[in-house]
This record gives sequence, C-alpha cells and structure tokens, in this order.
Amino acid sequence: RPGQRWTMRIATLSHGGRIIFLSDRSAIDAADRMRSDFVANASHELRTPLAAILGYVETLQDMNDEADAPTRNRFLAIIEREARRMQQLVIDLLSISRVEADRFRRPTTPVDFAAIVRHTLAQMKDSAEARPQDIADRLGDAAQPVLGDAAQLGQLVHNIVSNAMKYGRPGTPVTVELTREGRRVRLSVQDEGEGIAPDHLPRLTERFYRVDEARSRSVGGTGLGLAIVKHISERHNGQLDIQSEVGKGTRVSVSFPLSEAH
Ligand code: ADP
Repeated sequence: RPGQRWTMRIATLSHGGRIIFLSDRSAIDAADRMRSDFVANASHELRTPLAAILGYVETLQDMNDEADAPTRNRFLAIIEREARRMQQLVIDLLSISRVEADRFRRPTTPVDFAAIVRHTLAQMKDSAEARPQDIADRLGDAAQPVLGDAAQLGQLVHNIVSNAMKYGRPGTPVTVELTREGRRVRLSVQDEGEGIAPDHLPRLTERFYRVDEARSRSVGGTGLGLAIVKHISERHNGQLDIQSEVGKGTRVSVSFPLSEAH
C-alpha cells in the first residue's frame, strides 16, 4: 500500500536455514506522528496563556506610578486567569499521561461506583463548582461494585458532569443517573444545553478537539476532558456513548461491568 513501510530481519538457524521477519512500520509511524502532534498542540496551548501573562506583566512594569488602581487590578485579574488556565492544562496533561501509562494494567480492586459518584458530586458542591440546584441526582441506594481505580473513576465522573454544567443552559439542571443493565452499571449525565451537531460527535474524545474553541476557553476548558474520560473508560472496560440533539441537550453515558462479587 502507498506509504506503507516494512522492516526486515533475517535470522540464520544452526542448520543453515533462515527465517525472515517482516514487520509493518506504518503503525509505529502513526503512533510517532500522533505523539509529535500532541507535543506540538500542548506547546501551542501553553504558549498562548504564557504570552498573555508576559505581555501584561511588561505593561504593568511600564506603567508609571500614577496609573490608576482599577487598571492595575484588571491586568492582575487577567494574569491570574491565564495562570489558572495554564495550571489546569498542566494538571490535565499529567492526568492523561498517567492514565495512558496505566493503560494495560487492569484495575483489580473492588470499589463502589455509586459511592464514587456521590462523593464526586458532593465535592463539586463543596468547592462551589456546582450549586445544589444545578444537579438532580437519581443514584438509588444500591452499591454498584466495579473493579476500579477510585481516583480515576472520580475524575471521569467529574469531567462528564462539569462539561454538562459548562455547556448546559444557565439555570437548567443536570441530571445524573445510575442504572443497572444486566451485569453492568450505567452512569448517564443529561444536560439541557445547546447540543452538539452529529458530525462533531465522533471527534469529541480526541485530545484538544473542541466544537467551539472560544466557548471552551471562556468556560475554562482545556480540550482534554473527554480524552481523559475515554482513556479511563477503556482502562475499566467501559462503554462510552455520547448522544446529542442540537437545541435540546446532550447525554453522555458510560457503563462498566459489575464485579463478580455481586
Ligand atoms: P473542554 O475542556 O473544551 O470542555 P472536553 O474534551 O471536555 O474539552 O470536550 C470537548 C468538546 O466537546 C468541548 O469543547 C465542547 O465543544 C464539547 N462538549 C463536551 N461536553 C459537552 C456538552 N455536555 N454539551 C455540549 N458540548 C459539549
């Protein structure tokens, strides 16, 4: 095929016979390309807020002493916002590389997924990321044991719920639901936002893919949230499903196998 590359290795056996090994380099090349694209994208994402910070610091340094306090404070607020954006990006970059490093290590510890969801929602309310009226939860009382990494599952729940709040219409609640489906437990997060057009849906879990770049930035998005969700889901044998209707809202759901004990 065009663009396909092979490497060849020849081994000589003791009785004089030979074995020829042919291996397809194109998969390795594609992985290399993805890695360098990722580094380029991440550098670009970090450079933008950094340039803003340096620009405003310079402006502040050039301002003479009589410059008014409100202007200074406005510039300081911009510097803080851009620094926080960089901080979140670095946190998300570390998360994604950690989750990727764990990719082939299946979790073996039983954890209660229902308790993780409850705990994550409570944390979001405590940290003022969500007000009580923002979330309608239908979690039920039953424990939902899965084999998992509690911190990663908590992050998956957080990323999905915080997207629903970021992209939902202000004042409309986000519904978080847990249901049993045979030997699996399903988490569904439904918002009443503007929805996502069908052609974007398959690309949402790509790193740095955003439907509306400006919107994502203005709500503090890094473009990595759903890529992290996808990796965590895969590591836990999860099935991720995103359904959306433009003008109505989006439903993100993920199901995990229940652990053998139940
Ligand atoms: P971001 O940090 O930009 O929110 P994500 O990886 O979490 O990045 O999501 C990727 C993109 O998917 C977002 O920029 C947004 O365009 C879209 N998106 C994610 N969740 C929703 C949702 N609940 N409603 C509408 N759009 C969404």
